[in-house]
Amino acid sequence: MKNLVILIYFIFIILLKKFLKKKKLNDIYYSKDYEEAKKKIISFNYDKKFKEIKCNNFTLFIRQSNSNKYIIVSSGLHGNEFITGSAIQCKIMDEINKNEFTEECPNIIIVHCINKYGCINSDRFNKSNVDLNRNCLKFSIIDEHDNKSYNKIKNIFNPRLKFFKWIKNIIKYGSNNIHNGLLKGQNENKNNLYYIGRKNESEICEFFEVISKLINDNSIIFHIDIHTGFKGSFKKFCLIQDENKINFLKENIFKNTKINFINLSESDLYKDINGFLTFENNFIFLLNKYGKKKFLNLKYHGICQEFSIANKIKYILVANLFMKYNRKKIKNKLTKRIKRKILNIYNPDKYKNFYIKSGYEDFKIIFNYLKDISHKM
Ligand SMILES: [Zn+2]
Repeated sequence: MKNLVILIYFIFIILLKKFLKKKKLNDIYYSKDYEEAKKKIISFNYDKKFKEIKCNNFTLFIRQSNSNKYIIVSSGLHGNEFITGSAIQCKIMDEINKNEFTEECPNIIIVHCINKYGCINSDRFNKSNVDLNRNCLKFSIIDEHDNKSYNKIKNIFNPRLKFFKWIKNIIKYGSNNIHNGLLKGQNENKNNLYYIGRKNESEICEFFEVISKLINDNSIIFHIDIHTGFKGSFKKFCLIQDENKINFLKENIFKNTKINFINLSESDLYKDINGFLTFENNFIFLLNKYGKKKFLNLKYHGICQEFSIANKIKYILVANLFMKYNRKKIKNKLTKRIKRKILNIYNPDKYKNFYIKSGYEDFKIIFNYLKDISHKM
């Protein structure tokens, strides 16, 4: 009898903890869908010190100072990942509003849900089926885009494949080919998954047009583009294209923090990915291409901040889910439940507090660095 009471007591405590945790996770910064996320980000501009700039594809806020330094924080380039990015942006706005903001502080630009269509539909891709974080290319190199891995796994990620055949293909080609194929994308068939496009998409063009109006040629920019869904193991990664940049960041900015930097150019899996928004060459090239003025002296540092989510099987299944619904062109009929399921997989409840805390931490480190170094960079 006594044991039973103790058991019931423990079960009660566990349930209570779960309940409280859920309450806490229904966090003030997280949202369940795009509509709520948009309302939330506006509500965190409670003292209206961030200026809202109306754009077609996304919402942009800027907190201006007298500094020539800027931090850009962007979210929702992949629509299925946006709620974490949006939550971190809300946290940043909240903290900036609560604390002192002087004229020496870096300007802060928040670009909320770049891929609005994807955010509304819990879809990685935009309306034209393009992966925007592979689309930031000069598009003269497009003919050279050859992805052998994608060709191998084409059947896995394309429609009308029978279930058992699908499983057989997964076993045959294995996760390396799958990851490689997916991550590099393809531009052979605009209806297939992981299409990188053949021209810069309107979201990308507008992003650079608007940013160009807010900064100057002597500006120093630090850009954090927030993603979730990279690898397994629930960690934070910082994806960068070249070794020098990683060294610079490690030695100057992230001195006292542990960050998993991944040099994409050194990895067999990722070395041919060229179209990231935060790659310095892409950013400066596209800024000059779509911007309202020329930028020759600009200093730019960009990180693709990735929070890893789940195991590979889930990742593959979600992709397959997209395949089934997306390619049959019934995506708009995706039920709310499926949309939410996708968001839950890419932004798991269990890690939401970690994501916000850790995402905000990076912002703060960069913010303080830019604020203090006035002349060094
Ligand atoms: Zn992503």
